[in-house]
Amino acid sequence: MAAMVKQRRSRGESIIAFNSGEPLADVPSYITDAASIACRMEEMHRYTDARGLPSLRKDIVSKCLRDSGVEIDIEQVNVSNGAKQAIYEAVLATVGVGDEAIVLAPYWPSYIDAVALAGGTAVVAQIVDVYDIDSVIEKLDESVSDRTRLVVFSNPCNPSGRVFTADEMARIGSWATRHGVWVLSDEIYEHMNYVPSGSLTSYLCIADSAANGIVINGVAKSYSMTGWRVGWSITPPALARGIASLRSQISSNVCNISQFAAASALSAGLREVALARDELRQRRDLMVELLSGIDGVSWTIPDGGMYVFARIRDYGDHFDSTVKLAEYLLDRHGVATVPGEAFGCPGYLRLSFSLPERDIHEGVARLRSGLEVG
Ligand code: PMP
Repeated sequence: MAAMVKQRRSRGESIIAFNSGEPLADVPSYITDAASIACRMEEMHRYTDARGLPSLRKDIVSKCLRDSGVEIDIEQVNVSNGAKQAIYEAVLATVGVGDEAIVLAPYWPSYIDAVALAGGTAVVAQIVDVYDIDSVIEKLDESVSDRTRLVVFSNPCNPSGRVFTADEMARIGSWATRHGVWVLSDEIYEHMNYVPSGSLTSYLCIADSAANGIVINGVAKSYSMTGWRVGWSITPPALARGIASLRSQISSNVCNISQFAAASALSAGLREVALARDELRQRRDLMVELLSGIDGVSWTIPDGGMYVFARIRDYGDHFDSTVKLAEYLLDRHGVATVPGEAFGCPGYLRLSFSLPERDIHEGVARLRSGLEVG
């Protein structure tokens, strides 16, 4: 969809990109300043520790204490080329050929491909309309087998914006311990969390995580640094050693300049992060208010992330799939969305609210014409 939007815009077409997956805020200047300092540091021009710059790994340790109240050891941290690499490596390190990983749906699509690349099978546990945790655990019970090695989800969830509470994660954690499987909690949207009680309780806070937890995070969403490619995993030390050996063969260290800049982001406090979150929350509120004027569209208000995952009623009267519906909306109405099929949930469209307000107004108006006529 991103490629199609680019192509159409280059032809001069006006497209509202509700498919976008990037935060809007500018990268703060203290981060770009840190990068230019790093460019002039001799040691930044050389190979460094494949697990990450020690200074950044220490900042990640401090960040965990600051944001989650949890003391981790630096040996648990592996810095990666974005959260995506951290996810892929964690899956490679835990899932072998013929093994299974349970992926909660709606899911971020790369989870499925990472499991396939590891030679495993992704078993999808559908929880899109399943709100109480007992039913989520039942879905896990239905999906588990003696080949299961891993359970994967994002929290807050991309695309649904659902945020598991600490109690809910503790239930998943103890279920995983009982079944002897790993839990991968992708927390890249950690700070895009609109739950009134404050910031997300990371899976790191769950007692079982000391033995079975893989926590993924990075600077892409919280600091608007998608292109800088810095993410990390936090795992029990033995798994961290396995990931480090994979890393040293796959890619060696992440670009030192980006790592140095990421360290300045993490150590600067959360003021800018909170401002960006407040702005996004306002856009979320605007988006859901405007969407409520469209017939046949429903959603659960996202507690986190930057998307509304909208269920489209009766789309089947005119289209075979929400893929076809999304193509029609782009072709005829100039509004780009991501169809639910990408996340394991046909019948839904993912709509980003990380857009300027006037685009949200215009995009929802275009959606209304497309859906009410379509
Ligand atoms: N996890 C989720 C849930 C995401 O939405 C994304 C990016 N869209 C990533 C991971 C990848 O993050 P990064 O850019 O740091 O690789």
